[in-house]
Amino acid sequence: MNCHCGNKETYSNCCKKAHLDIANAKTAEQLMRSRYSAFALADGNYLMQSHHSSTRPTKEKKSIVKWAKSVQWIKLEIEETYKGLENDTEGTVTFNAYFYEKGKVDVIHEKSAFAKENGLWMYLGLSK
Ligand SMILES: [Zn+2]
Repeated sequence: MNCHCGNKETYSNCCKKAHLDIANAKTAEQLMRSRYSAFALADGNYLMQSHHSSTRPTKEKKSIVKWAKSVQWIKLEIEETYKGLENDTEGTVTFNAYFYEKGKVDVIHEKSAFAKENGLWMYLGLSK
């Protein structure tokens, strides 16, 4: 079975590595994929941990988890990446995340900004 994020790897060989130790997300794309998988698993702790401290929505954690559980995650499509490689300190990932909500397919299309914090990739928010 492929990982939640759509990689042709098992979850154990893919996003689970980052979920166990976020230092295993070596690129912004890997962090993005692990965050999608965390949404699919409604793993609120990881969603907070992988969020840059300057923008971390700690107060919304409960509602994020509740929402993540209430929808069915279909797939993630990475459209484009810019920088975000091992030796970079910032980058963007443009993606489409598909899910069913109330019987309808919906999609989040987002260009996300990522930055390293203490040497670890973190999600900052929408890219400008
Ligand atoms: Zn994965």
